[in-house]
Amino acid sequence: MRYIDRDEIAERLSYDRCIAIVREAMIAFSTGETKQLLRSILPLSEGRLFGVMPGALGAHKAFGAKILSVFKDNALKGKQSHQGVVLLFEPDGGAPVCMLHAGEITAIRTAAASAVATDVLARTDARRLSILGTGEQAITHARAISKVRKLETLVVWGRSANHATKLADKMRGELNIEVVVAPTTRVAVVDADIVCTVTSAVEPIMEGKWLRPGAHINLVGSSYAGPVEVDNETVTRARFFVDSREGVIAQGAEFVNAKKAGLIGDDHIVGEIGEVLAGKIEGRRSGAEITAYKSLGHIVQDLASAWALYNEKD
Ligand code: NDP
Repeated sequence: MRYIDRDEIAERLSYDRCIAIVREAMIAFSTGETKQLLRSILPLSEGRLFGVMPGALGAHKAFGAKILSVFKDNALKGKQSHQGVVLLFEPDGGAPVCMLHAGEITAIRTAAASAVATDVLARTDARRLSILGTGEQAITHARAISKVRKLETLVVWGRSANHATKLADKMRGELNIEVVVAPTTRVAVVDADIVCTVTSAVEPIMEGKWLRPGAHINLVGSSYAGPVEVDNETVTRARFFVDSREGVIAQGAEFVNAKKAGLIGDDHIVGEIGEVLAGKIEGRRSGAEITAYKSLGHIVQDLASAWALYNEKD
């Protein structure tokens, strides 16, 4: 069986390529072409998780699963928080044909999914991106969002000023735009056209009342029912889109909290991003509207990226 390692994925799965792959995968997801089960998460200890995400790209297409651990304190040891493999099966004989480094696919495809959502939901003149969080997803999100908007300024916030400064220095060198460190989440958010929350926070780190009219926010850091990064007002103020309606109703913590508080019902979810991409549901309706995209992350994003790397020439 072939193994595609971290370096090969980083080299071959470019952001432009992954954005196109994820875009098609999310349309296929929302038209019902793909098949998947809700992810299973086994809590280990001290917040460490083991997850299994099975899925198929279509009735006669590749299928497989992502099997991974999420160890939040890995960053302190210089390791990825998400570790594991994507196991790919071919559709003709049903054999497993390839294993791929799950951490690297996850890092790139998650940011690509946010870029796809940003491309259809953010104002076309959005120039100022704020990223809350300084880890791996912060880096990949800065790279991916810069592919879909002509950014002029990147604002970074981290609970560690040292980590925020290091991230700012790195991204200034890479993106060649103004990069500033915000001292608080409020300062980071108030002037932002696009916000990405990519932290492992478990309690809200920002308030929805701070978002300016016309802002778009990608809620990425919490990927199961439990931890939340933002308050209920962030959810209620926004025209609210999701990667998976079923997934977010069950496991989208910020949505679940606002619903539990009696502030919204399931109909607050305007649609899945795949429905917007397919032109079935209207995305942003005005320059003043606040839009939100709740990302849980989806196996079809991993499988579609894996299949392309295994099967297609670059
Ligand atoms: P990293 O471990 O690399 O970075 C985590 C970041 O969160 C760090 O900046 C860390 O700060 C910060 N952080 C941790 N706790 C808090 C807190 N209480 N308040 C504020 N900031 C905090 O993780 P990744 O970048 O790989 O992932 C970020 C988040 O995104 C994770 O929660 C992960 O589970 C989630 N994720 C979601 C996916 C999706 O598809 N939706 C896919 C992949 C990841 P410090 O450096 O100070 O520790």
